[in-house]
Amino acid sequence: MSEALLKVQDLVVEFETRRGPLRAVDRVSFDLKPGEVLGLVGESGAGKSLTGAAIIGLLEPPGHIAGGSVSLKGERIDNIPREAMRKVRGKRIGMVFQDPLTSLNPLYTVGEQLTETIRTHLPLNQAEARQRAVDLLVEVGIPAAEKRLESYPHEFSGGMRQRVVIALALAAEPEVVIADEPTTALDVSVQAQIIAVLKRLCAEKGTAVILVTHDMGVIAETADRVAVMYAGRIVEIGPVRDVIKTPIHPYTRGLMGSIPDPSGEAERLLQIPGAMPRLNAIPAGCAFNPRCAFAEDICRAERPQMRRIGASDVACHLAETFVRPA
Ligand code: SF4
Repeated sequence: MSEALLKVQDLVVEFETRRGPLRAVDRVSFDLKPGEVLGLVGESGAGKSLTGAAIIGLLEPPGHIAGGSVSLKGERIDNIPREAMRKVRGKRIGMVFQDPLTSLNPLYTVGEQLTETIRTHLPLNQAEARQRAVDLLVEVGIPAAEKRLESYPHEFSGGMRQRVVIALALAAEPEVVIADEPTTALDVSVQAQIIAVLKRLCAEKGTAVILVTHDMGVIAETADRVAVMYAGRIVEIGPVRDVIKTPIHPYTRGLMGSIPDPSGEAERLLQIPGAMPRLNAIPAGCAFNPRCAFAEDICRAERPQMRRIGASDVACHLAETFVRPA
């Protein structure tokens, strides 16, 4: 068993408001091994993007880490000075966001941005950095890479721009990449190509990936493990095949209904009634209880703790009841 590269332990993210703190990420824990792809999935507002932002120190105030820890190779990175975190962010953890223009400066050529990032983090001279920039663009599948170094971000299509962002995220050879909805803004035909590029390069380089998405199809294609989030908490985490084929938590089982089944033979899953609660109205006990067809008294009174069921961990009082044969 390889050791955890990234360890997130009981992470809490809160927003200060006049009426007191609102908890958006509630005691989230997971490990990431070198080279592993962990999918973080859930509806909008489940806390998955905030979890990613907290890990890389990019929470926008008034959001802040209010508890727990994040460790990279055994060293805490959640409580280090801003400048030290900035270095971790560029060098050891790379980022790919939904909108490539968030990561790219429109005023500089792609070549200038790549070589600057490379030279900031790696001991290379200008010519070597430029060559590495060309190699990176070739690796992410950009035609005429040497020529395209002179292009500005707006001169690329959406898909090509996201390839540039992946090149930029990998430029300093990070140990972890956090990709937050990396394909959501792209045409469906381009999405699979971008995911394939990200997956191939990270596998080749042994880079671990946290893939934040609401798209179970992307998770099924890409992730080794998946963590399902609901109302700021992880409700189920396990190997992707188990969570997709034999989900246990009632919320996960409902979410799986969102993957189209080409054979049409899959069990028809219940539509989940209602919507995820707002941060200021998260119910006591299991946050899913008002929407759960199986809720019992204990679900309204006590928060379910994570329990190991097979190869997954599940936070549901009745988890054992829902185990189905693979
Ligand atoms: Fe449903 Fe209870 Fe399980 Fe929550 S703990 S998912 S309410 S059965």
